[in-house]
Amino acid sequence: MDNLITCTNCSSDACYVDEVNQEIKTYFCYGCGFQSNSLMREGHEFLNNQTEILPELYKDLLSTDENGMVWMPSSVNVADKGMIFANGTSKMDWKWTAVKAVELKEGDKKVKENQTHRMDMDNKIDFERNTFMDALSYIGLLPE
Ligand SMILES: [Zn+2]
Repeated sequence: MDNLITCTNCSSDACYVDEVNQEIKTYFCYGCGFQSNSLMREGHEFLNNQTEILPELYKDLLSTDENGMVWMPSSVNVADKGMIFANGTSKMDWKWTAVKAVELKEGDKKVKENQTHRMDMDNKIDFERNTFMDALSYIGLLPE
């Protein structure tokens, strides 16, 4: 990964930048697990539309960096790997929860026709805020 820059939300050097077009860049930080893009600025209509639908905790966790760009916690959901989401009661009290997907067994209920895995809540683990990368490793999206 060569598009890594210093994160303006957590200062780690693990922020992945992707250029959508000349005006819009997206940012996804593997350190803090927060994401943003060029349109997510305070007062911008796009931001209001984006954040309206967020769970309360996610709204609580929105943070503005020194450039006026607003960051929100990511949520990851990969059907055959697992999911990661911010979990807690408030800004002061939350962690990343990671859940591994397991292969469906004979007789397991399917939600979709071609479903091969299900999220197994029995193996969920909490990770501290700035260890998002460990959570990604846990569900197999990054090497251990
Ligand atoms: Zn970060």
